[in-house]
Amino acid sequence: MVVGAAARVAIGGCRRLVSSHASLLVSSQCRQMSMDARSVSEKLRSSGLLRTQGLIGGKWIDSYDKTTIKVTNPATGEIIADVARMGVKETNDAIASSYEAFPSWSRLTAGERSKVLRRWYDLLLAHKEELGQLITLEQGKPLKEAIGEVAYGASFIEYYAEEAKRVYGDIIPPNMSDRRLLVLKQPVGVVGAITPWNFPLAMITRKVGPALASGCTVVVKPSELTPLTALAAAELALQAGVPPGALNVVMGNAPEIGDALLSSPQVRKITFTGSTAVGKKLMAAAAPTVKKVSLELGGNAPSIIFDDADLEVAVKGTLAAKFRNSGQTCVCANRVLVQDGIYDKFAEAFSEAVQKLEVGDGFKEGTTQGPLINDAAIQKVESFVQDAVSKGAKIIIGGKRHSLGMTFYEPTVIRDVMSNMLMSKEEIFGPVAPLIRFKTEEDAIRIANDTIAGLAAYIFTNSVQRSWRVSEALEYGLVGVNEGLISTEVAPFGGVKQSGLGREGSKYGMDEYLEIKYVCLGDMNRQ
Ligand code: NAP
Repeated sequence: MVVGAAARVAIGGCRRLVSSHASLLVSSQCRQMSMDARSVSEKLRSSGLLRTQGLIGGKWIDSYDKTTIKVTNPATGEIIADVARMGVKETNDAIASSYEAFPSWSRLTAGERSKVLRRWYDLLLAHKEELGQLITLEQGKPLKEAIGEVAYGASFIEYYAEEAKRVYGDIIPPNMSDRRLLVLKQPVGVVGAITPWNFPLAMITRKVGPALASGCTVVVKPSELTPLTALAAAELALQAGVPPGALNVVMGNAPEIGDALLSSPQVRKITFTGSTAVGKKLMAAAAPTVKKVSLELGGNAPSIIFDDADLEVAVKGTLAAKFRNSGQTCVCANRVLVQDGIYDKFAEAFSEAVQKLEVGDGFKEGTTQGPLINDAAIQKVESFVQDAVSKGAKIIIGGKRHSLGMTFYEPTVIRDVMSNMLMSKEEIFGPVAPLIRFKTEEDAIRIANDTIAGLAAYIFTNSVQRSWRVSEALEYGLVGVNEGLISTEVAPFGGVKQSGLGREGSKYGMDEYLEIKYVCLGDMNRQ
């Protein structure tokens, strides 16, 4: 993002558009705001949810040097808002306020923290339409999907409001008769949370929910591309009674904010969701102060269709796994592995289903595929498609920019994709489904595991035995069997290999914010 950010700033107004032909559109599209988007942002402004300042110590604050970044609508290039562009000084103050708030927040009873979180959950749901509109405005996903993200994001706050009350320790049978051995679980302290643009709400609540529930205080840094949803959620957290300093939000200069969080000895944990490249940098930078680190990084998910799959289930599941958020999720199917015997039938049925997807502005009724986040994203997709075609893959449908312009790309299916093509090796992060042929179950497992990533995998089969066998053999943190949408607050989410460290969601997600303390009570036989 560092390079991308520079490129975006360089063209000023519409920082999402960087290619020469796109920049021709910039000035006219930035000046005019469509009525839909205008009325949505006016409504949001009057509801108090369109916040543009950072949140430090319970106060809304401009950046100290008064600089701002422009947040734009990827569907139109229109500027939605100017938000504070913060850096090291603001981050240090946010850390200090979190550090100050930690003793009182962590000393509340779990029940008291739970009540605050529950109120926050209720407010998130009460404002789900507005929050959904904000997500569509700044991220581009269709409104229905955006409102779905609000429900999903809020579910982590509800879940951890409940889980706060179940942070049990242990009593261990002692090794000596005059001793009693206890295990306490205590909050780690101040947490730095860095989140991406593709889930502007859910990637924040999945971290802040368990952090606040366990008694930690947090400094959140949302992506500069989608800070508005984070700020609106923080406003609702204040209304719910999250005390000043317990939750801070700073955004702007990502490397500066990251460095401040990482170098501070007061920050005891870094939790990051984003690209593998940035995750590795943060992990290295966390070493000098030996912070706890959780990383939710990129994937390269296989969706494996066996000959014995139910064709309809495989098409529906793969469609959902591939095209959610126009292919811009870490768990999106990146490679569709199809067995010889069902390959042609699947290719035909799947392409028919993809043909029916509706590309358009997320506010338009019926849209299922919004724009890609910026021009760099669409250029990446184009280069991957060109690479595959130049090496012998064949486009069944799509394969080019959509006639709507901007960063819209046609939903695409490509067959005869091989392992030497870029789209087999790296995250496409766009609406392109590459079909790869395989012969045997062993081949499928070998191809699926032949990657440095290990986040999500999907298999489609009607054999119970094969479901077990293949699930066990896949080197992935999540496996969907005959199902393409598997994320839920009640189950652990996270990757193996270079897809990350730690888990989010579920009871396991709470452990990431807790330290285990062993207490030995001696001399217990004394009267
Ligand atoms: P990214 O470029 O790594 O950015 C993620 C966050 O890190 C943003 O807030 C970004 O800030 C910040 N950042 C960038 N450089 C930084 C630095 N040097 N120091 C500190 N922070 C820095 O990733 P992205 O493009 O936003 O998100 C897409 C990636 O996230 C994909 O690879 C996807 O697979 C992954 N992802 C993973 C999961 C998961 O749960 N495993 C979930 C969602 C997404 P700015 O945006 O302000 O520059």
